[in-house]
Order: sequence, then C-alpha cells, then structure tokens
Amino acid sequence: RAKSTGRNAARLFLPHMQRDADARLELERGLRTALEQQDFSLYFQPQVDMHGMLVGAEALLRWNHARLGQVSPAVFIPIAEETGLIHAIGAWVIECACRHIRQWREQDIDFGGRISINISPWQIAHPQFASNLAEQVAAAGIEPSTLTLELTESALLGDFDAALRTLQQLSAIGFRLALDDFGTGYSSLAYLQQLPLDELKIDRTFIGALQATIADPLASFVIDVGRRLGMATIAEGVETAEQEAVLRELGCDLMQGYFICRPLAADDFRQWVGQRASALAVDAAVGA
Ligand code: C2E
Ligand code: MG
Ligand code: MG
Ligand code: MG
Repeated sequence: RAKSTGRNAARLFLPHMQRDADARLELERGLRTALEQQDFSLYFQPQVDMHGMLVGAEALLRWNHARLGQVSPAVFIPIAEETGLIHAIGAWVIECACRHIRQWREQDIDFGGRISINISPWQIAHPQFASNLAEQVAAAGIEPSTLTLELTESALLGDFDAALRTLQQLSAIGFRLALDDFGTGYSSLAYLQQLPLDELKIDRTFIGALQATIADPLASFVIDVGRRLGMATIAEGVETAEQEAVLRELGCDLMQGYFICRPLAADDFRQWVGQRASALAVDAAVGA
C-alpha cells in the first residue's frame, strides 16, 4: 500500500515509529554488550508433580539493561535471533545453568534433579548444536539427562528432516526433550509421533481457560494426546487452586506456574527449595 501512495508514503512514518526504531537499536546495541557486562541472569521456576514434590525447574533468562531496566525475553529473544546473537546467548544460558547445577550438587541442594532450558529454533538449526552442547555439558561435569531442552513447534518449520536428525541425536546423547507451548503452533499432529519427545508442555492459554467445574475440552485433549504417546504432560501458567484441581482430575503429570511459585533468582530458588524441604519434613513428622 505504501508504494501506491508514492510521495505520501513518507507520512506513514510517524514519530512513534522513529521512537520504536531508536528503542530497537538501543536494545540491539545493548544485547551486543550484555554478555561482556554480565547483564544476564537465569531465574528458576519450580516444577512439581501432582503431590507437590519438586521435580526440577525451568531456567528463564533475565536481562537487566543499564538504562531500561528489566527487558522481557519476549522482546529481546526475537532481536537476538534476528541478529544471530542467539547462539552466543544460548551458549551462555547452558553454561550458566550447568554452573548452578554443579553448585547445588556441591551444596547438597535438592533442586529436583532436572533443569529445563529454552532452546531457540535457530540453535536447533545450527549443524553443530548437538555436538557443541554435548561437549559443553561434559566439560561442566553434568549428565545430559539432567537437562530438559524445551523447543517450540517453530523449530520444525524450516528443514524438518534436519531438525528431526538433531533431535534424535540429542535424545541419543541422553538429553530430555520437551515441546513447549504445545497446541499454539500450526503444525499437524502427525509429526508428534516422529519426534523423540519426553515431555509435552501445555500452553498457558489452555490452562487459563480452565474453570472450577468446566474441564476445557482442549486442555483435556492435549493431556490425553501426551499420555497416549507416552510423554509426560506438564501444565504451564497454573495460577489458581481450581486449575490445579482440574488438571489433577484430567491426569496431568506435572505443573508449573505462579500458583506454585514465580520464577526466582538463583539464591531465592535455593532458599525456596530449602524451606520447602523442611516444611515437607514437618508435615511428615505430624502425619499431615
Ligand atoms: P516459555 O518458555 O513458555 O516460559 C514460560 C513463561 O511464562 C515465562 O515468561 C514465565 O515467567 C511465565 N509464567 C510462568 N508461570 C506463569 C503464570 O502462572 N502466569 C503467567 N501469566 N505467566 C507465567 P518469561 O520468563 O517472560 O519468558 C517468556 C518466553 O521467553 C519463554 O516462554 C521463552 O519462550 C522465552 N525465553 C525465556 N528464557 C529463554 C532462554 O533462555 N532462551 C530462549 N531461547 N528463550 C527464552
Ligand atoms: Mg519454556
Ligand atoms: Mg511455554
Ligand atoms: Mg510460552
């Protein structure tokens, strides 16, 4: 449309668009230096089973920009992907997660045994991703089975066969694989069976739709699909006791969300784990 308006097209470039472009440039510049300046950190959100037992946590990247403050990964991950910075950032996320895992092991902190890491489609598409990751994890002294790699359906949109090979490689090395935001993509159900997935993460939109007495047919369908394919199902974004109750009834295996705990800085996560362990011990002692 801009073309046909010819000279008038310039009018379509409104002041807020200049501001958006400036903001985006500032974010891009910031991202380039964020790794050196140690502006990134990992937060950890507990994942529990339906008895409330901790099974692990999802590592979520946080960026504290010197001038802008906290920038959401929903904003900066796409920029990191477009600029190719995602590979360096992704490697840092893995390194940082491994470092925390080692520390918790050394300090006898029972973090549940598994840490989930979000992996961008661009990382999956990198031909050396699986071998680099295996090396990185071995160098850190972590068993691959400690890590769950969360990928989205968009990882399969490009070269499906290449992505499938990479996933098979990763699975053979021993990494666990989870499909994140399941149910929000455009891919067909047929591919699900071909992928070596251990876990299906039910997108927050389905969980948000759960009411006290009404079991959302889509949520129940997704849990059923996971079970039938032999995968663990995990609900993300669980915010209320009602949602938890419905999920239990539907046979969901695992949960994560504000109802259980918000994502926490590593120190706070360690504290949360410790407090929870002693609370469970008290419960057991009084026979609750
Ligand atoms: P995701 O992997 O689906 O992560 C779940 C998001 O839901 C997180 O947002 C988390 O903070 C939020 N969340 C958790 N529980 C609740 C809840 O009960 N209610 C609501 N409303 N939200 C909840 P966050 O941390 O802002 O991350 C957004 C997305 O950014 C992630 O979605 C993931 O796709 C991406 N991301 C985060 N960290 C990384 C990373 O290290 N690498 C890559 N490639 N992507 C990342
Ligand atoms: Mg995730
Ligand atoms: Mg998700
Ligand atoms: Mg999501």
